[in-house]
Parts: sequence; C-alpha cells; structure tokens
Amino acid sequence: MKKIKVKNPVVELDGDEMARVMWKWIKEELIFPYLDIPIKYFDLGIQNRDATSDMVTLEAAKAIKEYKVGVKCATITPDQERVKEYNLKKAWKSPNATIRAYLDGTVFRKPIIVRNIPPYVKTWKRPIIIGRHAYGDIYNAFEYRVEEPIEVEIVLKSGSEVKNFKVHSFDGRGVFMILHNTEKSIRSFARSCINYALSEKVDLWFSAKDTISKIYHGYFKEIFQEEVERRKDDFEKAGINYRYFLIDDAVAQILKSEGGMLWACMNYEGDVMSDMIAAGFGSLGLMTSVLVSPEGEYEFEAAHGTVRRHYYEYLKGNKTSTNPTASIFAWTGGIRKRGELDGTPEVVNFADKLEEATIKTIESGIMTKDLQPLADPPVDRYYYTEDFIKAIKERLESLLKG
Ligand code: NAP
Ligand code: MG
Repeated sequence: MKKIKVKNPVVELDGDEMARVMWKWIKEELIFPYLDIPIKYFDLGIQNRDATSDMVTLEAAKAIKEYKVGVKCATITPDQERVKEYNLKKAWKSPNATIRAYLDGTVFRKPIIVRNIPPYVKTWKRPIIIGRHAYGDIYNAFEYRVEEPIEVEIVLKSGSEVKNFKVHSFDGRGVFMILHNTEKSIRSFARSCINYALSEKVDLWFSAKDTISKIYHGYFKEIFQEEVERRKDDFEKAGINYRYFLIDDAVAQILKSEGGMLWACMNYEGDVMSDMIAAGFGSLGLMTSVLVSPEGEYEFEAAHGTVRRHYYEYLKGNKTSTNPTASIFAWTGGIRKRGELDGTPEVVNFADKLEEATIKTIESGIMTKDLQPLADPPVDRYYYTEDFIKAIKERLESLLKG
C-alpha cells in the first residue's frame, strides 16, 4: 500500500509506563505503515524529563505553538514515591500543567461512543464534551478559619486610594474565603471553547449562577456573550448555537439530552461534572482529551494515566489487556486536525478510517478487559492489547482498500 503523505509536522510527546508501551505499538502497527508523516519527537518519559531538568517539556510546548498540532502519550506526574522509584532529582511539575500554562489553553474531555458499550444514561447518544476553566475561583482562593468573634473587612488599595467593604461580623466560629478571577483568563477560556465548538461543529453551552452571583458569575456570562458575538458569522457558517443556562438547569438538561454539545463550565463545576460525565459514559479507556489554545493550537491525548498497575505486570513478562482506544484517538485527533489545517482530505480520511476500524472492532465483540463487563450484548472473552491492535489493523486494511 502506498503511504499517504502528510504535509506539515505533527509534534509527538512520548510518555511513561504502559501508556508508552501501547503508544509504540500503535505507531508501529496503525500509523507509520500508512502515513508518511513528519514527526517532531519529544521524549517526555520521566527519565528524560529528569535528565533535561524538565526543559524537554517546555521545548515540546514551544513546538506545539509553532506547528499547531501535538499528540501526547500519558506521563507520570511525580510525587515523592515516584522520586524514589525512578531516582529523580526532584518531583517535577505535571507536564500537562506546564504545557497548558504555556499555551494558555483549555482541556476538553470527549467520550468515544461505541454502540455495544451503552452509557449509563439511556438518553445519551452523542458525546457530551466538557470544557473546564482551569484558573481561579476556589482553586486560587484565600481561606480563613474564624475561631473567635471578629469583623471581616476587605481593603482595596490603588495608589493612595483606599476603600473598605464589610464582609461579615462573626459572633462565633466560622470560615470565610475570597475568590478571584481575571478578565484575561476568562476571555482565553471563552475563546478556546468557541474554537473547539466550531472545530467539532457542536453547540456551545455555558452555565453559571448569575441570578445569585450577579457580579462574579455575571462577569463570566458577559465575557462569553461578547466573545460569541465576535464570532457570530463563524457560528452561523458552522450551523451551531450558543446557549447560556443557569447551572442547575444545565445539569437537568444534560441528563435529559441526547448529548452532542460542548458544555463549558467554571472551574469547580467542571471538576465535578467532568468526572460525572466520564463515569456516565462508562470507561476511562474510552475518554479522550484535547488541549485547545485561544490561538487555535491543539494537543490531543487520552484522558487516562500511564496505567501503572498494568505496567508492573508487563515488566514481569505478563500480557495485559490494556485498552489503547483513547491513545489511538489521540493520534487520529491530531492527524485529522493536521489534515484540516493543511487542506489534505486524504489525511483526514485516514483518521476517519482508523477511528471507524477501532469502533467497528469493538462493536464486533473484540475488546479489552475493561470493556467486557460493560458490553451489551455480552461477550464471552476479552483480548490482550496486542491482539486487539492486530484486529483493528486487519479491519483498517480492508477499509483502506475499500
Ligand atoms: P491511570 O493510569 O488512569 O489508571 C488507573 C486505573 O484505571 C488502572 O489501574 C486501570 O484499572 C484503569 N485504566 C486506566 N486506563 C486504562 C486503560 N487504557 N485500559 C484499561 N484500564 C485502564 O491512573 P494511575 O494508575 O492512578 O496513575 C498512573 C500515573 O498516571 C500517575 O503517575 C499519574 O501521575 C499519571 N497520570 C497522567 C495523566 C496524563 O498524562 N494525562 C493523567 C492521569 C494520571 P485496573 O488496574 O483496575 O485494570
Ligand atoms: Mg475532579
């Protein structure tokens, strides 16, 4: 089979443990035999991050900014236990946090829908994508525990001008907290959400509680409205809508909906709702994740981690049944986006075919162990990772000959 030529580079960020092992198999079996693809490779494996004092992560982020498209394998975020395990110089920061900060991006989580792995919520037929704002609110708050009667005031200083506001008079014990956010961060968030909704051609929902928090939540609502207004023509062209909901209404609507929207959430709501939606769709092995910047740079990855427990089995020489689906979709997401940006429909078509081959393989009853208990109709066995990938490869070849 003649390889399909990809015009511009895709930035590849390699990772750790079982995710890294699967990542290599995916490249060797499902990507490189079919695509002539220029790769800018960065090894974000924990040993290389340690050896480069984490400079490799920053360089990878810069490369994504330059080439616009990255694909990332799951990586270890080291804690003290990992520092010992891998004999590290220190507990380096989460690579995802470093890249997100550099690109000022937002992370979107999107489930892969497979017919015989039904979501727990019967009405859900299409993906519900969650976009979570990742700055401020309770995550960068000032908190205080009150132990005796006190008056709490807030003092605002600007040069020589000073303003005081009374917060609360405590006549006994209690707590208080001060939250903040910035226009820049909220605007970047809104822009990333708009880019992603346009790119996926799905409606954009934003929810908050501006009836109660008229100023704070109201500020988010206002910025979203303004940013949507600026892209009005693009929304029309894409045939998608923007809708604002009160958060409690949004929760109820989501449960009754068919899915097929991007739900933009404030930080805390996004933290909670993304886990609720992920659990509702069934398996971590079917959850993808994409980082989108306000300028339209994209980094695709699986939402799960390095699958550490499976890796220790692999190191003992045992076969594992680890689900590579979300990692395959990280590659197809990146390849499709590359093809769209380059104007090369044959590249986009390859991404579509590989996704189709993966989904149809699962729908034919060939799946990994994590999916077996969820399958309806039930299946009587599960496949090891390598055999599952082989089955996808066979199907892909027949689709490409198609
Ligand atoms: P994990 O890798 O997400 O795995 C947790 C458990 O979920 C696994 O033990 C496995 O359950 C199941 N699972 C996850 N992905 C699976 C897949 N593809 N196929 C089958 N089962 C899957 O989380 P972890 O083991 O707690 O964390 C390991 C490392 O990942 C940590 O060092 C953390 O820092 C890192 N991490 C990285 C990212 C990222 O790079 N985006 C995200 C999260 C975590 P069973 O063991 O029951 O089979
Ligand atoms: Mg959470």
